[in-house]
Amino acid sequence: EGVTMSTTSLNTNANSDGEADTVSVALRVRPLVRSEIERGCQIAVQRAGDGSPQVTVNRAETFTYNYVFDTADSQQDIYDDCVHPKLKKLLSGYNVTILAYGQTGSGKTYTMGTSFNGIMDENAGVIPRAIHEIFKEIDAMSSSDTTSKSKFVVTCSFVELYQEQLIDLFSPNRSTVDVREVKSRIVMPGLTELQVQSAKEVTDYLMKGSAGRAVGSTAMNESSSRSHAIFTITVVASQTDGRDSVTTSKFNLVDLAGSERASKTLASGDRFKEGVNINKGLLALGNVINSLGSGQASGFIAYRQSKLTRLLQDSLGGNSITLMIACVSPADYNVAETLSTLRYADRALQIKNRPVVNLDPHAAEVNQLKDIIQKLRMDLL
Ligand code: ADP
Ligand code: MG
Repeated sequence: EGVTMSTTSLNTNANSDGEADTVSVALRVRPLVRSEIERGCQIAVQRAGDGSPQVTVNRAETFTYNYVFDTADSQQDIYDDCVHPKLKKLLSGYNVTILAYGQTGSGKTYTMGTSFNGIMDENAGVIPRAIHEIFKEIDAMSSSDTTSKSKFVVTCSFVELYQEQLIDLFSPNRSTVDVREVKSRIVMPGLTELQVQSAKEVTDYLMKGSAGRAVGSTAMNESSSRSHAIFTITVVASQTDGRDSVTTSKFNLVDLAGSERASKTLASGDRFKEGVNINKGLLALGNVINSLGSGQASGFIAYRQSKLTRLLQDSLGGNSITLMIACVSPADYNVAETLSTLRYADRALQIKNRPVVNLDPHAAEVNQLKDIIQKLRMDLL
């Protein structure tokens, strides 16, 4: 589907497809893990029997989302149902964000595939699957012998937010970067943006970058990561037929830090400090979700409270097609944290975004000038 230009405005968002689109929420209930089985845990989170996207906790409280996945659903199922449909949008110029939220050990990293091991098997998560499909689509679209040929430039970046410090995981020695707002766009000056030609190249970088993440061990999960990880793929698409429109779209894949309160992880000392800072980002995220969800979208939204919310400014209430994957444990032992995640996810359902195709303003201007020249030529004839 081609992008049409308005002839009355040179604005970046000159097209009129900026319809409000609510954030969609997928709930994923993972199977019991060994530690829960050893603890004698019982299943406390049940999916509705009729196939509707609902779960009930302790046979008492029921929640409804856009999608509910449980132990019967594979990585492929999650990808096919809620990620695949968004890639067409990404390649036609929209920003797309996928956020994984939940307590430590609930399956965020497994679902996202942030720590890719290089093997494209049934365990591969959202990120490596999406990377492969993006390149498959791009190759098909650039080699098509129809007139609507497209040219794509793909870059990627990988940052970790740890104790309110943004670390460039693609820099040689974990350099920190700053986040700024320039002309209502969020930018990180100096961030390493790697230009990539193939899926293999991107997944190799993903593996290298995730190996450099800060990892702390807590009582809850030996290798739980106490930081947020944000992997971003930027696609610049140029139509090489008559009308030279250029779109730039960003695909943000976010593996958030554990949402549990510090106390449950028996955190102390440094770990405790980490807990406090993680809570700062997630607390700010919760505040943003609350104010956006309560319909006061025209009022003040506190994006500046943390770097996390600044980075996600466009993903929440802004220019992005956004999916939150809320991850929970099925165990009775974790019900308090599970209910907290379910309520958080419930509020995210209320957020309305305004995704638009991101046309390059210079390309738009060139197009309009071409139109004018064409008209003048016709007048001369
Ligand atoms: P988090 O990133 O939220 O801390 P992880 O993704 O590391 O949690 O998952 C914790 C453990 O549970 C890992 O051993 C992971 O392989 C396992 N796990 C998570 N989700 C699933 C699932 N849907 N199916 C099978 N195992 C899972
Ligand atoms: Mg994790």
